Amino acid sequence: MLVWNIVIGCTVASFVNAAVIRSQNKQNYIFSRSCCPDCGHVLSFIDMLPVAGYLIRSGHCHYCGSRISVRYPLTEMLGAIAAIMSRNMFEFVLYMILLAVALYDMDTMIIRNRYLIMLMVMSFVVTDFCFIGNHLLGIVIISIPMRIIAVITKGFGFGDVKLMAVCGFLLGWERAILSFVLGCMTGSVYAGYLLLCKKAGMKSEMPFGPFLALGIRISFRYGFRLIDLYELSFIRVYN
Ligand SMILES: [Zn+2]
Repeated sequence: MLVWNIVIGCTVASFVNAAVIRSQNKQNYIFSRSCCPDCGHVLSFIDMLPVAGYLIRSGHCHYCGSRISVRYPLTEMLGAIAAIMSRNMFEFVLYMILLAVALYDMDTMIIRNRYLIMLMVMSFVVTDFCFIGNHLLGIVIISIPMRIIAVITKGFGFGDVKLMAVCGFLLGWERAILSFVLGCMTGSVYAGYLLLCKKAGMKSEMPFGPFLALGIRISFRYGFRLIDLYELSFIRVYN
């Protein structure tokens, strides 16, 4: 079962990555053959093996020797982790849509509406409507303050706001707050790393979607446990 999950996770994530890249180039991502982005040579079966293909070819194109981005095996490994973490197929699909959101935002600084619509549909599928009030509050609890901050400081893009509105419904208000906090924490650590390494300046723009997607993913799977842990560790100490 574990091996099956890894194979499925790697393969689907590889397809998601290819679909994100090809959609930016207006290519057909279902029927067009995979090629090397440098020499254009059509890839063989071995080249396309998730993770293994990268390792067999030592991270270089077999035909022109150009370096293959580490994004390919990393994305495939994320897919394997998502498949292992998922309790059911819906959860895995949800993680794959979040992966597409993150990859597309990394490439273009845009969060695509079509991914948000997919997330909305998935939210309706997995939401327990007994707690609808909690989920409706989740839509606005982060998105409204984010929108206000975005208007005043331009600190967030409108896509980030829409992502938090859609996923706020999915998560409910407590986990929506947690996902935002996790997104800010991981985003800040990465921004600090870029500043320290002088890879970015104070005025550089950075996509926030990948960090929000990570926060949403962790909150969806472990949110209630993390909130309980927080309450046990901090709140009771002060009571
Ligand atoms: Zn090549």
